[in-house]
Amino acid sequence: MGDPRAELIRGGRRLLLGEPCILPDVGIVDVDFDAPPDGQDLAEETRALFARILEPAHHNLVDHNFEAHAWDVHRALGEARLLYPDWPEKWGGRGADADADATRASLSVWQEVGYAGLARSITALVGHAILHFGSTALREEVLERMAKGEATACLGYTEPSGGSDVFAANTKAERDGEDWIINGQKMFTSGAELASYVMLVTRTDPDAPKHKGITTFLVPLDKAGIDIHPVHTFMDERTNATFYQDVRVEDRYRLGKVNEGAKVLAAALGFEQGGGYYHILMREMADSVTEWARSTNRNGQALIEDSHVLARIAKVHAEARIAEVLSGRVLGTRLAGAQDLAFGPAAKIFSTEAFIRASSDLLDLAAPRSTLRGKDGLGLVEKGYRHSSATTIYGGTSEVLRNMVAERRLGLPRSRA
Ligand SMILES: Cc1cc2nc3c(=O)[nH]c(=O)nc-3n(C[C@H](O)[C@H](O)[C@H](O)COP(=O)(O)OP(=O)(O)OC[C@H]3O[C@@H](n4cnc5c(N)ncnc54)[C@H](O)[C@@H]3O)c2cc1C
Repeated sequence: MGDPRAELIRGGRRLLLGEPCILPDVGIVDVDFDAPPDGQDLAEETRALFARILEPAHHNLVDHNFEAHAWDVHRALGEARLLYPDWPEKWGGRGADADADATRASLSVWQEVGYAGLARSITALVGHAILHFGSTALREEVLERMAKGEATACLGYTEPSGGSDVFAANTKAERDGEDWIINGQKMFTSGAELASYVMLVTRTDPDAPKHKGITTFLVPLDKAGIDIHPVHTFMDERTNATFYQDVRVEDRYRLGKVNEGAKVLAAALGFEQGGGYYHILMREMADSVTEWARSTNRNGQALIEDSHVLARIAKVHAEARIAEVLSGRVLGTRLAGAQDLAFGPAAKIFSTEAFIRASSDLLDLAAPRSTLRGKDGLGLVEKGYRHSSATTIYGGTSEVLRNMVAERRLGLPRSRA
C-alpha cells in the first residue's frame, strides 16, 4: 500500500479529524466477529452488574494493578458467578453456559469498564491448576471460596537468585510424616497482601535434574512461618518479598505429583502469557494526547492538524488494535480448548513492547506537560511511561518469550539447558 507513514497520516485524518474514506469492497466475509447470542447475554449481564456496583468516584479505575483491587466489586461479581464464567457450575462458574465466546465476551466487559482484573486473572490461572492437578479435598476447600470472591491467589515462582528459570527454584519442601516443611524466600510475590493462597514452586529432590526435582503447592498464606514484606516499585505498584520459615503444609495442598511440578508449571505458565489489557492503556494515553493536541495551537494552527502529530497518534491506535486482536486470539484459543504454545508469548511480546514504544513516543510528543504526574489527562502518559517499563519483565521477559516463539513455532534449536 506504499509508504506506511503516508498511510498513518491518512488513518489519523480519518480517525481523529473525521475525514471520510471509501473502503474497498471486500466481498462476503464469512467470519462472524460478534459474540454469539449467549455471549452477548453474558456480556450484558456483566455490564449491568458493573453499572450497579462500580462507582468511578470511589473505585480506582486508573491503576491497572493490584492497587486497584476492590473487595466489594470482587465479591459482587463472585456472588453473580461472573468471576470465572468458564469454571464448572459445581465450583461457582457458569460451566456449559459459558462457552469460549461467551466467557470472552463477559471478560472483555472488564476491559470496557476499566476495572483492573489482576487478582481475578491470577486466581483464574491458579484455579485451573487446582482443577487439573489438585486433590478432590483441595478443590472442595478452595474453588468455591475463590468463585464466590472470598479468596484470591498469588504466584510464588521467582526467587532472589532469578526468575526466568523457574525450574531452578531453591525454596525447599521436605517431608515430615504426612506433612511438608517449607523453607525459602520468594521475590516479587505480587498480590500476596490480598491473597489467601500462594502457588509455590519448591525443590523436593535436590539430587535430581532441576526440572525433575520440583513440586508445586498451594500454600495458605495464614500458615505460621510466612512473612510478607512490601516492595514498592516506581510504577506505583506494590509487590512483595515473601519468606517461608519452617512452614508446615498438609499434603492435600500439593498440586500434581511429587517431583512433577514442572508439568503443573508448564500448564500454568501458558495461562499467564497473553496480551492482557495493554491496548486499553495505549488507547487511554492516545486519547489524552489527542485532547491535548486539539486544544493546543502552534504557529497559528491546532496541533491536531499537523500530519506529524496525526501519524504518531494513529500509530498508537494501530498497534493497540493489533495488541487487542493478538490477546483476543490467545484467550479464544485457550477457551476453545485448542493449543498453540507460541500465541501467548507472541501476544505478550508485541503488546508490552508496543506499550513501551507508545508511551515513550507520546511522552516526547506532548512534552514537557506529559512529564508531570497526574491521574488523568497527560498524567496517564507519564504513568504509562513508568508502568510500561516493567511489563516486558514480569510474566516472562521478552528475551525468554522470543526464545519460546523461536523454539515452539519456528522449530529453532533450544537456547538453554
Ligand atoms: C513488578 C513485577 C511484578 C512481578 N510479579 C511476580 C509475581 O507475582 N510472581 C512471581 O513469581 N514473579 C513475579 N515477578 C518476577 C518476574 O517474573 C521476573 O522478574 C522475571 O521472570 C525475570 O526474572 P528476573 O527478574 O530474576 O531476571 P533474570 O531471570 O535474572 O534475567 C535477567 C536478564 O537475563 C535475560 N535472560 C534470562 N534467561 C534468558 C535466556 N534463557 N535467554 C535469553 N535471555 C535470558 C532476561 O531476559 C533478563 O534480561 C514480577 C516482576 C516484577 C518486576
